[in-house]
Amino acid sequence: MKLSTKILAGLILGIVAGALLHALAPGQVGTIDRYILSPIGQAFIRIIQFIVVPVVFTSLIIGLTSLQGTGKIGSYTIKLLPLYIVTSSVALAVGMITAAILQPGSGVSLSNMGEGPKTQKGQSLVEWLVSIVPTNPFEALSTANLLQVIISAVLIGVAMNLVKDKAKPFLSLVESIYAIADRILQLILKAAPIGVFALMASVIASQGFGILNKLLLYIVGLLLAIAVMTAIYYVFLLIVGAKPNHFFKSFFPSFSLAFGTASSNAALPVSMDNAKSRYGMNHGVASFALPFGTAVKRDGAAILQGFNALFIAQFFDVPITASLITAVFISALLVSFSTAGVPGAGIIMMTTVLSAAGLPLEGIAIVAGVDRLTDGFRTALNVIGSTANAAVINRWEKE
Ligand code: ASP
Repeated sequence: MKLSTKILAGLILGIVAGALLHALAPGQVGTIDRYILSPIGQAFIRIIQFIVVPVVFTSLIIGLTSLQGTGKIGSYTIKLLPLYIVTSSVALAVGMITAAILQPGSGVSLSNMGEGPKTQKGQSLVEWLVSIVPTNPFEALSTANLLQVIISAVLIGVAMNLVKDKAKPFLSLVESIYAIADRILQLILKAAPIGVFALMASVIASQGFGILNKLLLYIVGLLLAIAVMTAIYYVFLLIVGAKPNHFFKSFFPSFSLAFGTASSNAALPVSMDNAKSRYGMNHGVASFALPFGTAVKRDGAAILQGFNALFIAQFFDVPITASLITAVFISALLVSFSTAGVPGAGIIMMTTVLSAAGLPLEGIAIVAGVDRLTDGFRTALNVIGSTANAAVINRWEKE
């Protein structure tokens, strides 16, 4: 069986096993989840993160020192940034329009809503911009701060090109680390079906589907917006000539892993592998655009923030004025770029959008219960967005 089929089987069997456990063993679900499913799932997310920094750091340096040279990074960035802003704005608009049409927050009763987890205050934009500048390359690597890793690798790669021959021993080391890291990834991927099985079974066994009824329209609306944005990417790739069918097939392992783990960061090494070995993306584009996209490009998070803010406004009967829409749009767009690629990051960032729009923060507790169920879908879209934009740049570079 192919790896992508096995991952899909893991996802489906995980959902079925979780639902059965929830229905058949309600008393023991907590124990089974705490001692078996959750540890296996968490261990898988941890081991796949093990490979993120070595793969990103080394492949970026190899890309920078290869034939294409460092000038390319500037040209990729200049093309990617406006593309990111436009596509994220479209995602945000899709989320807000869906909420405005479906009105998921009108007529929802607060009874039976569980307490949400405590949320933290997000960083301000200026704080975030300063924090991406690395102070220490080893700290950037050891804390796995993706943007800092990218900036460190670009600086090192540029300097390596300038010192020429003196950089050769280091380049050999980097190439050797890359080959080893890539091999480790292939080994880890063999465990992916079991990892996603445990993660899905854990979510469904502990939450069940009962929670869906309480916020049905909220969940349906979010998934609809995510589906619409995925279709928009399909059409965009088609127009650009980036072969959308081949694209979705090639990146399927990465998208399903993003869905199962709810972490864009965990899916990154697989996206890089799929880009090179299945989609046929240029190494230079893949090694820069994919880590960069994973660090900042979050269409799923943009949809979540826009949709959620309007839901909360509807729920608390706050009038939806032009100034509210503007505040939500601007803050949600900025927040989407600074959302981390880890499970549940979007819900932490909600405080920033709600505060900017003057909406009640208590709203977060209402939606927190269903966050994990929708997180997988929006993470898959986050990865679709980052890889699709890379595929567009790849196509433009070819031309
Ligand atoms: N879990 C998402 C990701 O990793 C972030 C979010 O919570 O929106 O991309």
